Amino acid sequence: MDLTLLFQGFPGRSSRGFLGWSSCVLIRRPGKRPLLFDTLGFNERYTLLSRLQALGVNREEIGAVLLSHFHFDHAVNYPLFPNATFYLHEAEVKHIEENGERDLAVPVEMFPALRDSGRLVLLSGTAGEVEGLQWLLTPGHTPGLYSVLADFQGKKWALVSDAVKNVEELRTEEVAMSWDDAQSKESIKAIKRCADVVVPGHDRLLEIDRSGQTVEVKAVTESVIEIVVPWQDAKFTVKV
Ligand SMILES: [Zn+2]
Repeated sequence: MDLTLLFQGFPGRSSRGFLGWSSCVLIRRPGKRPLLFDTLGFNERYTLLSRLQALGVNREEIGAVLLSHFHFDHAVNYPLFPNATFYLHEAEVKHIEENGERDLAVPVEMFPALRDSGRLVLLSGTAGEVEGLQWLLTPGHTPGLYSVLADFQGKKWALVSDAVKNVEELRTEEVAMSWDDAQSKESIKAIKRCADVVVPGHDRLLEIDRSGQTVEVKAVTESVIEIVVPWQDAKFTVKV
C-alpha cells in the first residue's frame, strides 16, 4: 500500500472568497488498479493529470474514484477518469437532491451525469469497506461525507476531506462552513480517537500525538503556494 499526497490542501482565503485548494490522495497497491481520494477543482485539472503522469499513472488506469462528498472543490474532475468506478455515500446523494440548490458548494448540475454514468456506486450505513479500504461516515460538513482509513508506514492514516478542513478544526473541534455543527464535532472526535495521521481537506498533513498528558495536534509539513503574474519575473510565495 502506498499513499501519495498528490495535492496538499491550502488553508488560506482571499478577498475574493474561498480558494478551494483541497487535498487529493493517490492510493496504489500491488496487483490492483490505482485509486484516487477526491479530485480537486476545475482549475487544477491540468496539474492533476500532469502530476499523475509524472508518477507513471495514466488517467485511463484509475480504477476507482472515492468522492468524499459532492462539493465543487473535491468532486468535479470525476469525468477525467473514463474507466473508474465512482463512490459516493447515499446520504450525500440525498443531500444533493434535497439541498443542492441551497448548499452553494454543490455543483448540482453535474450530478445527473454522474448518476447516469452507470459507474456510480453508493455506500450505505456508517462504516464499511470500499475497494478493500475501510471507510467511515463522518458527517457534518455535508450529511454524506465519508473518510477513508488506511495503515501506512506503521501508522493509522485518515483521509478525511472536509470533515476536518484544517489544523485548527482538528485541535478545537469547532468548524466553519458546516451543514451541521454538532455532527461535525462528533465526526472530529471519532477521527481523533482512531487516527495517527490526518489528511485534512484544506491544510497540511497533521499528526495526532497521544504520548503526553493531553492529545496534541500538529502540522508536520508545509503548504507552499507560488503565484505568478505573467509579465513579472517575480513569484509571490505564500507559505503556511
Ligand atoms: Zn466541502
